[in-house]
Amino acid sequence: MCHNKKFDFIIVGQGLAGTLLAHDLIELEKSVIIIDTHLKASASRVAAGLINPVSMKRCIPAMPSNYLTTAFNRYSDLEDKLNSRFLFKKPLLRLFDSFETKDLWIDKYENKHMDLYIDNFCKENTFPLLKDEFSSALVKHAGYLDLKEFLAVSREYFKDNNMLLEKKFNFSEFNKNYISYKNLKAEKIIFCDGFRIKENPYFDYLPIAPTKGELMQIKIPSIENFDKIISKGIYIIPNGDYMYTVGATYNRDDLTENLTKDGQQSLKDKLDEVLNVEYKVISSVAGVRPTVKDREPLIGMHNEFNNIGVFNGLGARGVLNAPHFSNEFSKALISDSIYKFDFKTIDRFH
Ligand SMILES: Cc1cc2nc3c(=O)[nH]c(=O)nc-3n(C[C@H](O)[C@H](O)[C@H](O)COP(=O)(O)OP(=O)(O)OC[C@H]3O[C@@H](n4cnc5c(N)ncnc54)[C@H](O)[C@@H]3O)c2cc1C
Repeated sequence: MCHNKKFDFIIVGQGLAGTLLAHDLIELEKSVIIIDTHLKASASRVAAGLINPVSMKRCIPAMPSNYLTTAFNRYSDLEDKLNSRFLFKKPLLRLFDSFETKDLWIDKYENKHMDLYIDNFCKENTFPLLKDEFSSALVKHAGYLDLKEFLAVSREYFKDNNMLLEKKFNFSEFNKNYISYKNLKAEKIIFCDGFRIKENPYFDYLPIAPTKGELMQIKIPSIENFDKIISKGIYIIPNGDYMYTVGATYNRDDLTENLTKDGQQSLKDKLDEVLNVEYKVISSVAGVRPTVKDREPLIGMHNEFNNIGVFNGLGARGVLNAPHFSNEFSKALISDSIYKFDFKTIDRFH
């Protein structure tokens, strides 16, 4: 492979952010080279990929509704482009923890347009396998993205088209004046480096507050494939063949991919509050979410070096919001002003 040429963009990181941005820029007919190696604790390769349009506690939309439409359309288009399947639409069953919560949801359904997201309510004790003694609601427009598959088939695509350098990006070999890295040159470089932005000398000032999460894969021998995602303090996503993904924990103190006793125990405790049936833990993983205090993504260009940019801070709902932000940012990157697009730039921290 010969990388001795000039590209429009160097993208550092092939997680969810870098992958979507690369696809968008390529489709805008820009030349792209991605530099990525599988560094420990990265978020996208472990994430459950849940797409849940409703904030469960307050029963309000989690994101503007156009983000949801953009996400479903984009992943579905990418399935066609990459000739693979990774988007799974499934309703989500919200089990209530009290009748007060149920009343709040009914009020939002009847008076606050949440019928756009809530399909219907189920009576208490409808599902023998679940502890649904306070009844439940069925959320529509939900699902999950098989991120492992999406990233793997995208990586193959980038490799086949000579767009991937499988190496760690070493800042000491980057020349900010020429946007050159080793023998690569580009018009712009965009960092999509997840929580490792903390070690990025150009953007380490941004207020990232990474959050570690642990997940479990369980087997439920009595249920081959429950037809809904289950949510009550945790989510349980049916993956078929008796297997389910259970997540997730939140921990700001430990940014390793090591599993913890507390994390694993808290998932088991919550599972016991949901399931009426036996299950077996098959495996567990952990990763670190690039979360930001104000819950807005980190998108934009460096205030001094305006050919150096960042696409990060996707937080705990990256799968739902990333296609919208990638679409807007890619258009911004090839336009004369980034301010006419629909995202808050990192200028809010300058
Ligand atoms: C346990 C857990 C569960 C989650 N569940 C969900 C969920 O259900 N739904 C949802 O929407 N979101 C979920 N998330 C959040 C979601 O995973 C993130 O929003 C998203 O994946 C972030 O993607 P990213 O590309 O910004 O970062 P990352 O996925 O961390 O990607 C960064 C990439 O950059 C590479 N990189 C970094 N530095 C360098 C360097 N110097 N050189 C080369 N490569 C480099 C890394 O190796 C990595 O491949 C979850 C996250 C975790 C940890």
